[in-house]
Amino acid sequence: MIIGIVGGGQLAQMMALAGFPLGMRFIFLDPAADACAGPLGEHLVGAYDDTTLLSIMAEKADVVTYEFENVPASAIAFLHGKVDVAPNDQALATARDRFNEKSLFRELEIPTVPFATVDSLDDLKQAVAEFGLPAILKTRTMGYDGKGQALLRTESDVEAAWQSMGSVPLILEGFAKFHREVSIITARGKDGEFRFYPLSENHHRDGILHTARNLHNDPRQEQAEGYARRIMERLDYVGVMALELFDTDEGLMANEIAPRVHNSGHWSIEGSITSQFENHMRAIAGLPLGSTESTGYATMVNFIGTMPAREKVLAVAGASLHDYGKEPKPGRKIGHATIWSVQPLDQAPEFD
Ligand code: AMP
Repeated sequence: MIIGIVGGGQLAQMMALAGFPLGMRFIFLDPAADACAGPLGEHLVGAYDDTTLLSIMAEKADVVTYEFENVPASAIAFLHGKVDVAPNDQALATARDRFNEKSLFRELEIPTVPFATVDSLDDLKQAVAEFGLPAILKTRTMGYDGKGQALLRTESDVEAAWQSMGSVPLILEGFAKFHREVSIITARGKDGEFRFYPLSENHHRDGILHTARNLHNDPRQEQAEGYARRIMERLDYVGVMALELFDTDEGLMANEIAPRVHNSGHWSIEGSITSQFENHMRAIAGLPLGSTESTGYATMVNFIGTMPAREKVLAVAGASLHDYGKEPKPGRKIGHATIWSVQPLDQAPEFD
């Protein structure tokens, strides 16, 4: 079975590593000649919306998936009718635009922060007057790892944020008072079967995920599962989806969805009977899903900008190293380690 993946980064790489033992082979589309998934299959080098290359992919692949939500909608529309694409274009259109995604939460009665579209300075002032400060101004599309966001603390930040960001469609969000950030990774098969991973507790540094660990019997698990189920049923979703949540005194609030495998589920490679990557492959191929049960405690640490010495990581008991083979650059995720343990770790090890 041939799987087409739009994108050839580390998520595509880990999907291919999980799919290989299932007999799957891979074809990637990525503009970077040195895309890190490239060596694991056939690599079509070109733009995500290059219709000649998309036609080759549609011709060769049995099913196409993608590793990030900023794939141009036109690329997925082009594939329509030529090859099976999962998750579907409705899921992609929802997840790539923060306004669509928060509107869906509202429609499904899933709590989220107050939000409003901002297309002028007047819109922004009106929304700030309504939600109060602090508030967060975000681009509706193309934001990731804290990019395309401005925290508005005082009135004096409002105009400056508009000046620097106002050229693209925006959304203002009220500020969530949360005591922790969690996410739930869920797989849904072609037959509608669900498998939920245990909640992940996530910590960010400079807006980028730094550590994530699997929780055991968390009191918010059931609530998170209910929200993920509602979203995936509404979108007729097939594959793995991540739902990022704020845990507040009033319960969980949805922040965003990712229509794909997610960084906060990397611990599932070592920490679960079936990883998120394998379950995504199984789901889109119409195969039975695997158990999402944890095999122990698993804590993932991202390597951002620089890789620690291999010897240092591998000297930690229970550590597994994932070096994506990417060129180090500031702010770039180039690898991670997962520390597996029988008992929960007091804290994640520091490698830098
Ligand atoms: P996002 O790109 O929406 O995932 O935002 C990145 C990070 O910014 C989140 O993980 C939170 O730590 C923080 N953040 C985003 N939106 C809000 C919000 N409305 N209220 C408080 N913190 C937020």
